[in-house]
Amino acid sequence: LITVSARPLALADGSRGAVAVFHDVTEERAYEAELQGFAGVVAHDLKSPLTTVVGYAELLEDEVAGNDEALEHLGRIRATATRMRTLIDDLLTYTSARDAAINQVSFPLGDLVQEVVAARLHASRAGGYFPDVYVGRLPALNADPVLVRQVLENLIGNALKYTRPGSPARVDVTARLETEQRGGTWARVEISDRGIGIPAGEHGRVFDRFHRAHPTEGYPGTGLGLAICQRIVERHGGAIGATDNPGGGTRFWFTLPAGDDPAPRPPARLAQA
Ligand code: ADP
Repeated sequence: LITVSARPLALADGSRGAVAVFHDVTEERAYEAELQGFAGVVAHDLKSPLTTVVGYAELLEDEVAGNDEALEHLGRIRATATRMRTLIDDLLTYTSARDAAINQVSFPLGDLVQEVVAARLHASRAGGYFPDVYVGRLPALNADPVLVRQVLENLIGNALKYTRPGSPARVDVTARLETEQRGGTWARVEISDRGIGIPAGEHGRVFDRFHRAHPTEGYPGTGLGLAICQRIVERHGGAIGATDNPGGGTRFWFTLPAGDDPAPRPPARLAQA
């Protein structure tokens, strides 16, 4: 497997030429594929013992009811095992997003966004902080809905996670259609928050796997979510990026092929009751 890059060259005597660089990446790609396969197998085999650990910790919690110290220790076991399980899930999603078949169909993005926000809202009923989410008029996409759901869960989840409780916050999900030079209509989807922001110089690096821009600040996570999003969007031929939100906070955007739009859902505000 060879990659080729070329660029034009203007010489001092006025003549013009071009430089082409051929790079054999066969070995690099094979190594990467082997590593990913390995990570996938290990992750899969680690999952079931962890489920057992969490299950027994829960059983014991019932048995030691009233013993605060024992309950606290069991709580730590459960929390740690749950964190490991999240990491394994993310690793499996990351490796499978590379090879999974893409089932591209036309579907309304607005419905999927509402489902993802409603699920988050439901999960946070236990007392979590939840900024208002404003969803604009969203088009249909021509993409794999299962994979797009993962992108939305990560980006909307991050927008909520990296917004400090108590700040006058909101999250906006908007989209517009663009006709690209290479042909076809693409949807550019934007998720803007008023959260803690990304430090200068980190906006590109947050898509690197395991890279976390706020590692010491007590936000749980694996550093794989955005790498998963990038992989999924790029497999559809789209692009993804992050910028500062002009109103403060962060704006993530991605492009995916637009679908047929029979009846777009009207804009909505989704908030905690
Ligand atoms: P995780 O959230 O699990 O750490 P991600 O890959 O989703 O991993 O994100 C990578 C890093 O990018 C995060 O650790 C965080 O520092 C930064 N980040 C992502 N989304 C946001 C956001 N909406 N606001 C501020 N920082 C963000």
